[in-house]
Amino acid sequence: MTSSRHAGVGMTSQRTRLRMVERLRRQGIRDEVVLAAIGEVPRHIFVDEALASRAYEDISLPLGFGQTISSPYIVARMTELARGGNALGKVLEIGTGCGYQTAVLARLAKEVYSVERLAPLLARARRHLRDVRAINARLRHGDGLLGMPEVAPFDAVLLAAAATHVPAALLEQLTVGGRMILPMAISHEQRLCVIERTAQGYTERKMDQVKFVPLLRGVE
Ligand code: SAH
Repeated sequence: MTSSRHAGVGMTSQRTRLRMVERLRRQGIRDEVVLAAIGEVPRHIFVDEALASRAYEDISLPLGFGQTISSPYIVARMTELARGGNALGKVLEIGTGCGYQTAVLARLAKEVYSVERLAPLLARARRHLRDVRAINARLRHGDGLLGMPEVAPFDAVLLAAAATHVPAALLEQLTVGGRMILPMAISHEQRLCVIERTAQGYTERKMDQVKFVPLLRGVE
């Protein structure tokens, strides 16, 4: 831990992270398991070095390739909704991006599988996740719309990009009682949706208004 990225300089210290956790609590995040996980993951490692000083502000940051890193509040909120107060076994994430949400999930789920369509982003996420020793996170280069049927079923499926319809293949990969958390583009806005698989079928709840990049097909 000698590189400057890991040094305990003010902005990257545990104290700064705990201030972020306090802010998330004030913003309405209630799940203490989620807050503890967020308090443990050094977010500055996941962002561009030039932006590291802003890593703990509640803003989304550019990731390159026209993509953005979700704000800490959105990561916390999606994780809280995915848990629904219960421990998570297997989790699938679509849109690894920088790997920060993956790292948070890895601290509270048994296994995390994350699919990213952009190869250069995935390579970077792999490095970041190695740096934070997220050994229970497995990354895959592919089109997340297909999910990972060979690993399914999942207790939770999280999408980090906005869908115009609910991806059918992903619904089928949920356990009964499992939840899909996804931003849905509905007319001119996006809403965070929670779809739960029940013994009878699926239920859907619409939550916070959000702003995500679009979910795209195929790989690059
Ligand atoms: N949680 C991530 C968000 C990254 S932005 C972070 O905080 O860094 C959304 C990501 O979804 C982008 O990296 C984009 O390339 C990816 N994406 C979009 N459509 C996808 C698809 N069909 N399969 C896999 N990844 C996809």
